[in-house]
Amino acid sequence: MTSQRTRERLILRLQSMGIQSDAVLDVIRNTPRHIFVDEALASRSYENTALPIGYNQTISQPYIVAKMTEALLEKGVPDKVLEVGTGCGYQTAILAQLVGKVYSIERIDALLNKARENIRALKFRNVRCKHGDGNHGWPEHAPYDGIIVSAAPIGVPQTLLEQLAEHGRLIIPVGKAGQQKLLLITRTDDGFQKEQLDLVSFVPMLEGVG
Ligand code: SAH
Repeated sequence: MTSQRTRERLILRLQSMGIQSDAVLDVIRNTPRHIFVDEALASRSYENTALPIGYNQTISQPYIVAKMTEALLEKGVPDKVLEVGTGCGYQTAILAQLVGKVYSIERIDALLNKARENIRALKFRNVRCKHGDGNHGWPEHAPYDGIIVSAAPIGVPQTLLEQLAEHGRLIIPVGKAGQQKLLLITRTDDGFQKEQLDLVSFVPMLEGVG
């Protein structure tokens, strides 16, 4: 169920959907996604689907994690990355293996505690998590070379744009349920450049803490 063959099938599926980065595919292949979900769902953890993690939230679909991570790394390896929406910490774990440092914010305390346990179990030392509202970013460590947002606001929060370093990349789903677009926003010398990567379906980005 969680065997190497099952994982390999997922990698083939991601490749067939257009994921090309070997670095990203290798990390997904070698990261135990089953530890991030409930035991009852472990047998489905290498399917290319989002799964419930409690509190009305989901672990992101592997394709989406791969797509966002690939977009983040496309122009080189970022040192400092901010993640909004830690959830169970799966995307955090993928990032921790590919970038310098990860700062991750989650508004639901109980989920954040689970994520911390998972990250500790996998022995990552370059991750810091905090309980809070990601709409405000994490100003103490800004600017970030990359920002990945795993919940969809209606519009791009200005604060996140402000916390992006020169040439930094923000990957964010934007829009109402049923009509969300995954955007890549790059900070350029004279402003921001926007590109649409995909159509997606994320949980909404909420205000305040849960
Ligand atoms: N990154 C996770 C996906 C988690 S789902 C993964 O790898 O699977 C999105 C998460 O965003 C949820 O846990 C939700 O609680 C959180 N979230 C929603 N609005 C938020 C906000 N304003 N600040 C921080 N986290 C938020």
